[in-house]
Amino acid sequence: MKLAKKYFLYLVRWQLSTPILAIVLKLLSNMSTLWATIIANLIGGLIFFWIDKIIFKKKSDVPLWEIEDEVECHDCHKKTKGYRIVSWGNYDRTEDKHPQFRCKECSIKKMNTISK
Ligand SMILES: [Zn+2]
Repeated sequence: MKLAKKYFLYLVRWQLSTPILAIVLKLLSNMSTLWATIIANLIGGLIFFWIDKIIFKKKSDVPLWEIEDEVECHDCHKKTKGYRIVSWGNYDRTEDKHPQFRCKECSIKKMNTISK
């Protein structure tokens, strides 16, 4: 995402937090302003953490590779140096609990299925 587009989205997102803040502050008007603001910001944080995560998600144009010295290839089971693409555009295995490593040949085949 281009920086200008991100910046614009971020400003829109800040405006979205305005009605939440206004409604919560109105509902909690019998509370002290400090506590009402803390609660309003907590609610906003719970919601906008996920929205900000999407806005600031980095998408790489080139594949980010992870290389391991001694692995068993996920596809052909050859014991070898292993490769895997961690992230590439919309493909994202950053949080993968069971990453799949492949030998050089199989990782190139896999890469071709991702790039299509
Ligand atoms: Zn292989």
